[in-house]
Amino acid sequence: MSKKIVIANWKMHLNASQASLLLHRLQERIRIHREVEVVIAPSMLVLQPLSVQIDRRKFRLAAQNAYHQDKGAFTGEVSFTMLQDLAHYVIIGHSERRIYFNENLDIVSKKVSACVRNGITPILCVGETKQERKLGEAKRVIHDQIYTALSGLTTSEVSNMIIAYEPVWAISTFGGEVATPAQVGRVLEFIRMQVEELYGKQAAKKIRIIYGGSVDDKTVGGFLQIEQCDGVLVGNASLNYIKFAGIVDEAYRQSLV
Ligand code: PEP
Repeated sequence: MSKKIVIANWKMHLNASQASLLLHRLQERIRIHREVEVVIAPSMLVLQPLSVQIDRRKFRLAAQNAYHQDKGAFTGEVSFTMLQDLAHYVIIGHSERRIYFNENLDIVSKKVSACVRNGITPILCVGETKQERKLGEAKRVIHDQIYTALSGLTTSEVSNMIIAYEPVWAISTFGGEVATPAQVGRVLEFIRMQVEELYGKQAAKKIRIIYGGSVDDKTVGGFLQIEQCDGVLVGNASLNYIKFAGIVDEAYRQSLV
């Protein structure tokens, strides 16, 4: 069984002292787990102070976004190059960025390339809207998102990355309908097949494919039991240290069976 990864997406929540306090609480509760990788994605503003506070035996840091150019006159942006020493991962293509910030397939693909070029591992989010699912277009949408985002990457770059399946309709921001592990399992399998078709068996085996969408300490067990599921991406519930520590505990418990 592969090592599970649990990622906290704090979104645009918590100022510096609140973020520091939440990290402190998590560090108190979460033990060093060799079998589970725990990643915190705080706001850009607090990445730096948290990088000093963080216990690297327990956690890794991720950024929630970055700009695809390495440097230049791009007021207000932060590049992947600037994140090299701070973030192990960057979340790319999150549905909130695709929907609220009009990030299309081309922008997402440029960000994935910039991320890899700068030695950072992308966490690529893909997933269909409710309407697309209703119209039977979910697979085509996910195929297009994967195909464009991965184009230009080598097999080893693809093998190293993470794809998070996050159906838009299951994310708390957009309604948070509960997806069943059976529904999720079918899509995770489809994603692995897509990777196999594009990059071969080894890449499909090695790439980590995770699930995100209103996961909490009560529901996480069902998702982690899916054969194809290498972990979870958690939004809302990651802001509550009891719930998030509970999610990590469950991942640890499952690593023992
Ligand atoms: C997310 O933002 O990636 C996410 C899964 O959010 P939530 O858990 O709140 O649905």
